[in-house]
Amino acid sequence: MKSIGVFTSGGDSPGMNACVRSVVRSALHLGIDVYGIKYGYNGMIEGDIYKMKSYSVSNIVQRGGTILKSARSKEFMTKEGRKKAYEQLKKKGIEGLVAIGGDGSFTGANIFYEEHGIPVVGCPGTIDNDLYGSDYTIGFNTAINTALDAIDKIRDTANSHDRVFFIEVMGRHSGYIAINCGIGGGAELVMVPETSTTINDVINTLKQGRDNQKTSSIVIVAEGDEQGNAHEIAGKVMGHVPELDIRVTTLGHIQRGGDPSAFDRILASRLGLAAVEGLVNGQKNVMVGVVNNEVVYTNFKLAISKNKPLNQDLLRLVDILNT
Ligand code: ATP
Repeated sequence: MKSIGVFTSGGDSPGMNACVRSVVRSALHLGIDVYGIKYGYNGMIEGDIYKMKSYSVSNIVQRGGTILKSARSKEFMTKEGRKKAYEQLKKKGIEGLVAIGGDGSFTGANIFYEEHGIPVVGCPGTIDNDLYGSDYTIGFNTAINTALDAIDKIRDTANSHDRVFFIEVMGRHSGYIAINCGIGGGAELVMVPETSTTINDVINTLKQGRDNQKTSSIVIVAEGDEQGNAHEIAGKVMGHVPELDIRVTTLGHIQRGGDPSAFDRILASRLGLAAVEGLVNGQKNVMVGVVNNEVVYTNFKLAISKNKPLNQDLLRLVDILNT
């Protein structure tokens, strides 16, 4: 393989830049030309592609976001769009790709390989930590630290005013961010899509806290919880416990930004090198991940389709520690 392309796709996550840097420098180290593709699959279709040098990735290891920009591409969902993307890659002589993104990006990459035979190795870049085949995804560690920083601040004000706060964190299908923030932030309750918590459970937990002399409480809600978002859940609870002063905060996109943590920089750097080495060694349609601190390659189909179950011990821990 003489020439590869790298792109970031889907929702951005802190550490994507460290991964891009690692891909570029690892490829150059192996004597391979490397092209940056901007705006994910959109840039691939439009030919927004440039040759990268070592200096192209100077001073980015510590920066959040992605210098390659990211996008969601409707056109790539069509056969014609993917054909255009292939033509652009062919023009530049790009023979393999490193995709840094989530399950949607890997689904697209898989279809692209089946249609045009360009091998792709994926690096899991998403704050959700929801990909099977890696214990951690790039950005998750930073995101929970960012969320915790905000939760700590909310605790101060909740405590001063004897309030209950419902705090919504990201996680449409996955409670990883919520459960980790719940434990680290000392929450009374965590509501995640993977388990069903009734409104009665919420009311009982808050009443129990009050009976145990708690003057303030924190409930962490993953945005994809089956009871609704934090505002909806707080609304359902309010009427039943009028004595509680309930407030709601949605942390939102703040969780996606910021300088990557040491953990994410190191993970991203390891995975970037492993992705390039994987391509060189003939890997195709796999996601590179870290399992038990070892680099492993998992077929895209498996990484996309298999659920990464939430650790039930963590849920139990919240229950034990909230009394
Ligand atoms: P995140 O987990 O942060 O949302 P993601 O990679 O899952 O990241 P998506 O928006 O789901 O983000 O997917 C990124 C892009 O991948 C889409 O905009 C689309 O261009 C491409 N893609 C997703 N699914 C398909 C598909 N079935 N066929 C072709 N392309 C796809």
